[in-house]
Amino acid sequence: MTSQAAIDTSAPAEAGSYADHARAWLTQNLTDRLRTDRAHEPAATLDELIAFEAALHEAGLAGITWPKAYAGHGLTLHEHLEANREIGLAPMPNAVNSIGKELAGPILLAVGNESQKARFLPAILKMQHIWCQGFSEPGAGSDLAALRTKAERTADGWRINGQKIWTSGASKSQRCLLLARTGAPQERHKGLVLFAVPMNAPGIDVREIVSIDGQRSFCEVFFNDVIVDEADMLGAPDEGWAAASRVLSIERATNRMYRAWRFQSELDHLITACRSDRRAFAILQTYARELAQIRVKTEMIKGLVETLVETLLAGEQIGPRGSFPKLYWSEAHQSFARIAWEIVSRFPADANGPLLDLRKRVEGIYLSSRAETIYAGTTEIQLDIIAKRILNLKKTA
Ligand SMILES: Cc1cc2nc3c(=O)[nH]c(=O)nc-3n(C[C@H](O)[C@H](O)[C@H](O)COP(=O)(O)OP(=O)(O)OC[C@H]3O[C@@H](n4cnc5c(N)ncnc54)[C@H](O)[C@@H]3O)c2cc1C
Repeated sequence: MTSQAAIDTSAPAEAGSYADHARAWLTQNLTDRLRTDRAHEPAATLDELIAFEAALHEAGLAGITWPKAYAGHGLTLHEHLEANREIGLAPMPNAVNSIGKELAGPILLAVGNESQKARFLPAILKMQHIWCQGFSEPGAGSDLAALRTKAERTADGWRINGQKIWTSGASKSQRCLLLARTGAPQERHKGLVLFAVPMNAPGIDVREIVSIDGQRSFCEVFFNDVIVDEADMLGAPDEGWAAASRVLSIERATNRMYRAWRFQSELDHLITACRSDRRAFAILQTYARELAQIRVKTEMIKGLVETLVETLLAGEQIGPRGSFPKLYWSEAHQSFARIAWEIVSRFPADANGPLLDLRKRVEGIYLSSRAETIYAGTTEIQLDIIAKRILNLKKTA
């Protein structure tokens, strides 16, 4: 593993060659231990992943559009898209702090006050604060407005009681973007409030859940009389729903903008590795038409993402159109994962190194893809959003 000190952290002198800069930096700094196409290497540790992500920011490849005043790079979504194409094409590990950088950061920029922006934004980019997202509850997933976690005003700030579930990365987070309610559950969208809760506050109990791929990313988080400072409330007490909707629109549309390019590189990896063995290539050939369809779909997802970027650059809101890439990518990627898994499952017993690396990677992709049509809003919910808010159809069957 390259140590942090050995990682080149120079940002490009000026914007305009972002793709070249990103490609060169990634080629130089993405070590074998970090590469997801070198599955035989021992996995990188959390500390190594954190060091890599901090270096990515220093090199100008994270916080690209955030203001320089908050440790961002002050550029536009054009550069963000250019960098993300290269990030997608590189076999990079999933970000440890994507919730900090892609959900909490944008929401802080939108509704946070000056003190909150100064306190939280640089800490996110420098990887001093990893964030988790405390929205879902046992009785409130698709129907988020049913959430019951209670926030009551006290002399010291706010007292929080309740339970969250499926909180990705909670056990390694320093802050939680928490959605709670000030009134009764029947009030639904009214009286919801967002907080930046410190995860070391007394009364927070985090329990990891082991997922199908053996990861311990998911957690249940219990809040028992947790006191949160007034200074950690984001926006106004009744603005939580509007802010949460904005978070979800960001999550569906621009979060992990690299996905279509990563998808293409996974397909390319499948084909390249299979070419290394005549028998594997013969198996691959029997899926040629399905893989051709997958390739077209990657281009369509790129187009959807690029169109949304142009929309945002023109100063327009994305609104429900954020559902387009989320729906299409998750469905297409799940089909690809199923086909790829079928192919690698048929590899001969004496498969060579590149095929074994591929099989390990595909196994991870296949298992994690099962969740892609669930998180950030399920497929059914995306279809309902499009039917109701874009086609103006009141109710789907
Ligand atoms: C990998 C992963 C990571 C996650 N990370 C986080 C996180 O960090 N923070 C967080 O807060 N949450 C997280 N979640 C939770 C996620 O947001 C919820 O799982 C999701 O919103 C669905 O809610 P649910 O699980 O309660 O399912 P439910 O809402 O109970 O849905 C069950 C099924 O019913 C369908 N359904 C529900 N309502 C309708 C309807 N009105 N019309 C038609 N069909 C419907 C759904 O589509 C689904 O198929 C994560 C989930 C996963 C899988």
